[in-house]
Amino acid sequence: MKFNPADNIQDLQYFGEFGGVNPSISDSSTYTFLSAKTMFDTFEGNAEGCYLYSRHSSPSNLYLDKALAAMEGTASANVSASGMGAITPVLLQLCSSGDHIVSSRTIYGGTYAFLKNFTPRFGIKTSFVDITKLDIVEAAITPQTKVLYCETVSNPLLEVADIAGLSKIAKRHNLKLVVDNTFSPLSVAPAKMGADIVIHSLTKYINGSSDTVGGVTCASQEFINDLKNVNSGASMLLGPTMDSLRSASVMKNMRTLHIRMKQHSHNALFLAEKFEKDGLKTVYPGLKSHPSHELYKSMINPEYGFGGMMTIDVGSLDKANELMELMQERNLGYLAVSLGFYKTLFSAPGTSTSSEIPLEEQEAMGLTDGLIRFSIGLDNDIQRTYDMMKQCMTELNVLHSLEKTNS
Ligand code: PLP
Repeated sequence: MKFNPADNIQDLQYFGEFGGVNPSISDSSTYTFLSAKTMFDTFEGNAEGCYLYSRHSSPSNLYLDKALAAMEGTASANVSASGMGAITPVLLQLCSSGDHIVSSRTIYGGTYAFLKNFTPRFGIKTSFVDITKLDIVEAAITPQTKVLYCETVSNPLLEVADIAGLSKIAKRHNLKLVVDNTFSPLSVAPAKMGADIVIHSLTKYINGSSDTVGGVTCASQEFINDLKNVNSGASMLLGPTMDSLRSASVMKNMRTLHIRMKQHSHNALFLAEKFEKDGLKTVYPGLKSHPSHELYKSMINPEYGFGGMMTIDVGSLDKANELMELMQERNLGYLAVSLGFYKTLFSAPGTSTSSEIPLEEQEAMGLTDGLIRFSIGLDNDIQRTYDMMKQCMTELNVLHSLEKTNS
């Protein structure tokens, strides 16, 4: 049967304590044991179904874990208090002093800063490469390399990682392929293409209401057990645990993810096609002009489309700022970082979410000053939104000044 993540989520069945249609929320940090022996066994990791302490896990978190594992097609999952609370323990679990990571150079700025500035303190080095060039990726691997790290669709440049190709390289060199799938939930199932570990910032599409931060690691039961091990697990010992009240709320939002993703993708494709026709430099994986369009088309589940993220380049930071301020004034969206909200969000990544990346490296990867990253919202009438955005661009002379810069 074809793997459909939304059906897998739908097929889960939960009941609350009194037959409620939502599972009961576990409002406890600690749990009683009927016998002291069971408590000991639980610490040793041998008491299936027993809860120990909520930093380790809670019944509410396990419900959400199950739904996310079903979505990614992995045996298990572990939710965390933020996306970074998933990424950092995974990398610290996999790497020790002297180890090496090969990472895409276009990744979320926080992950980049962690690999560039933080992990070297523990003797872990990272080489940043153009992830779209498999020969360059393979050439960067050394005998010390333990991890290949990438985002399915990268933040903010929307480069596409060939997950099946990267998985072959990872297997050849005995590396773990870790994929951040935050931009493409449901559309892409990296574990089904050979990724070993799939991470999400739940803060974005999966929760979808911009009211919390959250994260998840989806992987084999063995790796999730390692992360939660009371003696040596990076998640257990660093403590980035999601609160039970929050995981219950994320799970309720997740039930509409499939409907939301379809609308985000529909709206983003509509706008990207219009903007490109208008002469704006537009990057969207659903456009034929995207360098990895054909590859991405072969990777996605077409039901959920090419996603809700797109960028345009308006030539300069001043123009980008002017345009974003005017669009916010006209209530076309918010000048804010993050993504996956019902309202369109826009920001200039060079001065916000990617500001951790030094300017010369931003330039080398093509992260230009005038770039605006859009997380396209759930607007009901996207033609109306387009007309209003076009009006803003006309008033600010965006297209005209672009023609001048290009000539
Ligand atoms: N991964 C990606 C692709 C992101 O865009 C972000 C946040 O912007 C993160 C990870 C980090 O997630 P969080 O902010 O939930 O810690």
